[in-house]
Amino acid sequence: MVRVIMNNTLFMRPRLFTPGPTPTPVFAKTTSLSGDLYHRSADFTELLGRCRKGLSRYFGTKQEPLILTSSGSGAMESAMVNFTNEGDEVLVVNAGKFGDRWQKLSDTYNCKTHVIEAAWGKAVDIDAVKSSLDANSQIKAVFIQATESSTGVYHPIEALCKAIRPSFKGLIVVDAISALLAHEMQMDAWGIDIIVGGSQKGFGVAPGLSFIAASEKAWGIESKRSRFYFDLVKEKKNQDSGKTSWTQATTLYQSLDAVLDYLSPYSVDDIWGRHKQLCLATREAILAMGLEPFVKDDFAYSLTSFTVPESVGAQKVLKYLRENYCATYAGGQDQLKGKIMRIAHLGFMDPFELLGGIAMLEKALVANGHKLDLGQATATFLKNI
Ligand SMILES: *Cc1c(COP(=O)(O)O)cnc(C)c1O
Repeated sequence: MVRVIMNNTLFMRPRLFTPGPTPTPVFAKTTSLSGDLYHRSADFTELLGRCRKGLSRYFGTKQEPLILTSSGSGAMESAMVNFTNEGDEVLVVNAGKFGDRWQKLSDTYNCKTHVIEAAWGKAVDIDAVKSSLDANSQIKAVFIQATESSTGVYHPIEALCKAIRPSFKGLIVVDAISALLAHEMQMDAWGIDIIVGGSQKGFGVAPGLSFIAASEKAWGIESKRSRFYFDLVKEKKNQDSGKTSWTQATTLYQSLDAVLDYLSPYSVDDIWGRHKQLCLATREAILAMGLEPFVKDDFAYSLTSFTVPESVGAQKVLKYLRENYCATYAGGQDQLKGKIMRIAHLGFMDPFELLGGIAMLEKALVANGHKLDLGQATATFLKNI
């Protein structure tokens, strides 16, 4: 074990306020220590079936999502490989780091990529997507994020589907990796064809599992591309009969099973509602610190991004939080590096742990020269939870 010994962190424990990985609840960690599990056993078949069934309601579908042993990007890549063909025209919404990932995947797999960009911090313009689809009748699929974690934006997926669905007959593919549990997703009702998820965001399981649900229409595509590890047609056949193509991260399945079981008595509305409430309380707290939330309108309920004045320095504050409170926050990426910070309130983020996170942030800001009335943001947060 690597230990960094600093007097000022005595008795403090490491905490993650990052939008993935998110904190894993202790019960989910301990269940994965309960016994060694063979991935070709009857016990695993049961576990796989339970997990697939348990995931469906977060996607809003009667389909059972496939579970893959990979990080979320593996499921993104498998969506591109299995549901498009070489030379297909596709439309990609790029409004940040993860939209850019769709674009790179589309280019890598030789699709003809139409890109609708949105400024970082803004949601996509639905009319722009609609006009592009109307003008290019050859477009076979739309790739978008639900929550663009690099900026903290939520693209209005329901409204987008409503606007384009009547005339667009192609696939709508949504990366909901950091949106699941925080935002309502209704794959079947909204007409989404593919939703991709991951274990280390809302579900609070350690990184290493990804999820992909696909509509009957999507399964009918039958891509002609060569593929091997991520052959989803083969994977589906296997998983529908209780097997998997490859050795799975069985310990993570045990964690996921425990998490799904923990959540099962709660309604999805309650789970989505809790995320919204924590998000709104966090935004109030940020304002009470004299800072600006980076996303004004279409903000994600999974994380809050905020601007840090140059004179204070986002990178300095991040370093201070790490070194003095063992707390990891996320900074900005690419053009936003040094300009914003991001705090997640996703999955198993206990409201009172988040309160601690807000308190640390107040202290770290003051230590770096930002003027604020210590305790005001935490008091504001308390009044809103
Ligand atoms: C985390 C995340 C991903 C996937 O990243 P991995 O590191 O491969 O798990 C993709 N899209 C979004 C929006 C994310 O937040």
